[in-house]
Amino acid sequence: MNRIFNFNAGPSTIPLEVLKKAQEELIDYNGHGLSIMEASHRSKLYEEVHNGAISLIRELYGVPMDYDILFLQGGASLQFAMIPMNLYMGGVAEYVDSGSWSSKAIKEAEIQGINYRVVASSKDTTYDRIPENIEFSDNADYAYITSNNTIYGTEYHEFPITKAPLIIDASSDIFSYPIDWSRVGMIFAGAQKNAGPSGLTIVIIKKELVARGGDKIPTMLKYKTHADKNSLFNTPPTFGIYILNLILHWIKDNGGIEAIAKNNQKKAKLLYDAIDNSGGFYVGHAKRESRSLMNVSYNIKNSDGTNNSALEAKFVQEATDAGMIGLKGHRSIGGLRASIYNAMSLEGVETLVEFMDKFQRENS
Ligand SMILES: *Cc1c(COP(=O)(O)O)cnc(C)c1O
Repeated sequence: MNRIFNFNAGPSTIPLEVLKKAQEELIDYNGHGLSIMEASHRSKLYEEVHNGAISLIRELYGVPMDYDILFLQGGASLQFAMIPMNLYMGGVAEYVDSGSWSSKAIKEAEIQGINYRVVASSKDTTYDRIPENIEFSDNADYAYITSNNTIYGTEYHEFPITKAPLIIDASSDIFSYPIDWSRVGMIFAGAQKNAGPSGLTIVIIKKELVARGGDKIPTMLKYKTHADKNSLFNTPPTFGIYILNLILHWIKDNGGIEAIAKNNQKKAKLLYDAIDNSGGFYVGHAKRESRSLMNVSYNIKNSDGTNNSALEAKFVQEATDAGMIGLKGHRSIGGLRASIYNAMSLEGVETLVEFMDKFQRENS
């Protein structure tokens, strides 16, 4: 078997134990003589997987009972449109612009012609930080943030306290640390970064927000449709939910979300220390206080402080040859990016850090 270290931003690495279990059960699930992929979404067999995933999310993430847990499709990107459609009530919607994904969410508010306001942005500094001095108004219909900016490698280390329901795009940091639910109206994520394969979107939403959706919303785009039917209004992405279920079991077996969070801190520290201790050879994109524990974006610098893109390309190539893929930065900022989601092992980060040290010695 030849498993590489996969630092891709998404779809991204999945725990080997989960893949092995899925492989083992692929042809004959639990002695039933068929794959879960082939089972009816109305069968008892599938129901256990579906409800098992929901109750594991509730248990591990500590989701209070006044929130619905929904399994939708259309990616996190469809949520950008569903949020204004369902949650805007004719007042004002407020957004923080902390990167490309926030901008895309704002664009959907614009398209729908709702009254919205961008209350803070870090665009002027190439999104190198979570904007400071964020001030949401108390009477907004909702307040919107992106908890982890996958491209720029920045992350909120605490959610803002808002009177308006806080809506959080946690596509790239869901299940990576415990949540203070008292601050949350809704959290959503495309599963393919930290929670499974693409094709599944997880939405955890306060019931009182579900109730907002009006009669003019197309059936499939209305949270209430899915909440009323336990996400079985139509065929859900059953295989993705099955893998999510296995990943949740993996989180539980590894001590739960607090233990996972500790491990994430350890991994991120190792990598940021390597960057900080490189004497300016490697330089992180994000300001220190905004650094993401999930996506580490950095550059290789010339002595005059400019990016050495030739050396960055060489780094990516040699890392690939050494069994580490996905380290090329997003095209919008270039450079390097290591995505070190829950499923990336400490060993993977250690291997990367050793490689970085060797690469620096050979090329400076
Ligand atoms: C990847 C990503 C998205 C887009 O997710 P899709 O499921 O591809 O639509 C949205 N927001 C964030 C923060 C992301 O990282």
